[in-house]
Parts: sequence; C-alpha cells; structure tokens
Amino acid sequence: MKAAVLPAYNEDLQILEDLELEGPKANEIKVKVAASGVCHSDLSILQGRLPVMPPVILGHEGAGIVEEVGEGVTRFKPGDHVVISWVPQCGTCYTCEHGQPQLCETGAMVAVTAGMLDGTYRFTRDGEPIRQMQATGTFSEYTVVPEISAVKIDDDMPLDKAALIGCGVLTGVGAAVNVANVQKGDTVAVIGCGGVGLNAIQGARIAGAERIFAVDTAASKLDLAKEFGATDLIDASSGDPVMAVKEQTGIGTLGMPRGVDVTLEVVGFAETLKQAIGMTRAGGKTVFVGAPQLGATLELDIFMDLFAMQKIITGAFYGGSDVNRDVPKLVDLYKSGELKLDELVSRRIKLEDVNEAFRAIEKGEVARSVIIYD
Ligand SMILES: [Zn+2]
Ligand SMILES: [Zn+2]
Repeated sequence: MKAAVLPAYNEDLQILEDLELEGPKANEIKVKVAASGVCHSDLSILQGRLPVMPPVILGHEGAGIVEEVGEGVTRFKPGDHVVISWVPQCGTCYTCEHGQPQLCETGAMVAVTAGMLDGTYRFTRDGEPIRQMQATGTFSEYTVVPEISAVKIDDDMPLDKAALIGCGVLTGVGAAVNVANVQKGDTVAVIGCGGVGLNAIQGARIAGAERIFAVDTAASKLDLAKEFGATDLIDASSGDPVMAVKEQTGIGTLGMPRGVDVTLEVVGFAETLKQAIGMTRAGGKTVFVGAPQLGATLELDIFMDLFAMQKIITGAFYGGSDVNRDVPKLVDLYKSGELKLDELVSRRIKLEDVNEAFRAIEKGEVARSVIIYD
C-alpha cells in the first residue's frame, strides 16, 4: 500500500510502499482514493505552522470509491462514490444541532489525534502508528475514514473534479455564501487569489455580487481571478490596495470613500488581515478565510472599526459548511456549468510528484495540482 508520509517537519514527503492499513472498524469506511488535491494547508503542516505531528500522511482534499464498510455503517455500501470531508460532521452534537456542523464537537477529535474518532490509528509501518491528517490522509492509494467524514455523490460526477470540493471549494465558496452571506448586488473584495481565493470569487459571483475586486501580487493569479468572476483586478504589488479598492466604491460617511460590503481575506497574514478590515465599509463584513499561523495575533482599532463603524469581523472555518447539504449542491452547480472546477486544475500529477507540487505552491505557480491514482 503506497502513501506519501511526512517523516518530520520541513522534510520532503517520503513515498512509502510498505504501509499497512487495517480494515474499517465500527462506523468507519475504507475508500480507494481516486484523486487528491494538493492544498496549501498540507504545506503548512510540513512547515510546522499547523498543529499536526509527524509521522503523518497528508492530503485532505480527496474523492474516491468505497471499498469496504465497518460494522454499523448505514449510509454507504461498497461501490459508492464519495467526497472526503476533513471535518467529520455527526449531525447530533450541540454545534451540529445549532447549524454549525463545521465546528462539530465530535469531529473536532480528529484535529487533535490525526487518527480515528476513538483516538486510534489504522495506518502502521513496522508496527508503529502513522497518523492521517484530519482522519483523511488522501495522499494514499487507500484510506480508512469515519463514516461521518464522507458524503455520497452521484456516480457520473468525475472524481478528479469532485476531490477539489473536499477542501478548496467548500472553504472558498462556503466563506462567501454561508459565512459572508453575500447578497445580490453586493460589492465584494477577495484578498489572495490562490485555490481557495478563486473559489471565494466564484462563490461571490454565484451569490450575485455585482462587483468583485480581486487583490493579489501575482499577475497570473489576477488573470485567473477574472476567469472565475472578478470584475476588477487590483495589483497589490504596487500601491495601497485598500485605497485602490475603496476609491471605486462611492463616497460614504464624512465624505470618505465607502469600502466594500464584504471582504474575504484568503492569505492569513497580519498585513492582509488589516487590509481586509480597512477596505470593508461601515456595517460591512470582513471574513478571515485563510489559515493563519498557530498563535498569530492581530491589533485592532476597536473604536473605529468595531464600535463607530460596526464592522462584523469573523473567521470562516471550512466555509461554514454543512457538508451533507453543500457537497451535493456544489456537484449540481458544477453539472449546471455555474461552478468552475476544470479551470482550477493546473496540473494532474502522480503521487511521486507531490514534493514538486509543494514547490509550485511556494512559487505561487498553480491554483491546484491534483494527484490522480491508477
Ligand atoms: Zn485544504
Ligand atoms: Zn456534530
């Protein structure tokens, strides 16, 4: 059984062929992975910026076919096509029952253990357990995940496109639709136009935003942003992006440029988070989508931004997604041509090329590299 394992922080992933994978236990399923996106969060773990301990199988944006089901599994049978969710959503805990399944209290267990919900592991090598990021581990030919980490999709949905839904699309589109609740006619700014940012842009477009400002320092990403629905491209490498956006949004209080209704920040750095708050209008929403470094802090002008201008500043975890509601909806949007997935795939690669895919992310070269398994 072949998988890509992070042996230690800041090292290349190792392609290992001698991993053992135990079968699914109660309420778990074994999935033959068909495709996996390579996401910036995988790289963040490699660089020690997110709290997941090696040795670990990375990859959390995948889709595949159910191979085997454990005892008590009712929602799946072998042969079902599934999108893997990196947040298991139980449907019955306090947050699930309060319409926030992205924060599922049961599912949160996997962030801590990087194993199954019971804290044990299914992958081993020479008898030693190997973790799997968020109970997913899609940089592997096969994986075992909790039943509540998968969503069944139609057999006619291409699995290489479906894989992208599992992280980038749910996170980006969900941030715009579920968390920012973008309305028809809104003005929206998106800072950071990588894989997730492009999805935030298309989420805003699908929700009916009238103007979408794409902000990035890379010209190639701005070109892609236009394809996904941006109406105005702001090159942040020259000049102040906050003023560049605001001066196109009309005059508001005290004769000052107004700012946009919604800003989605998809980078996660203090500088861009401040820019996001700065370009949001009084009464508007600033949504932090990008994963910041663990322990990062931010200085806020609480008189102006929170009190006097009553900006709503919030995070968006996993796009505020209810995966059981949103994954089928996104599949339908793809089939109707509204959701662009083909255009997200910059490179189709083999598992062996995963380290090269990380270097491409670091250079800002790609929206998504997608690993295709045989
Ligand atoms: Zn991701
Ligand atoms: Zn729950």
